[in-house]
Amino acid sequence: MREIEDLKDSEVGDEADHASVSTDRMIEQAISTQQTKELNEIEFALNKIRNGSYGMCEMCEEDIGFQRLKVKPHARYCIVCREIIEKSAKNK
Ligand SMILES: [Zn+2]
Repeated sequence: MREIEDLKDSEVGDEADHASVSTDRMIEQAISTQQTKELNEIEFALNKIRNGSYGMCEMCEEDIGFQRLKVKPHARYCIVCREIIEKSAKNK
């Protein structure tokens, strides 16, 4: 794109470059934050496998259910409790 080439030759272009670099960094950070969160959840699930509580709902201690675990292997609550939590989160 010619406009971008023109910008690069000017002072404004330098600033624009810096801006795009920090945007990239923000996106990278957002992605790695999300990945860290998911990794933590997976690590949490692995710990549960180790201590034998994997697949058990943390609220009612019922089995989460194989179908649900298949969709979300690191699920911490059964579908019933998940709905209760989601509803109470919305009501806040
Ligand atoms: Zn439950």
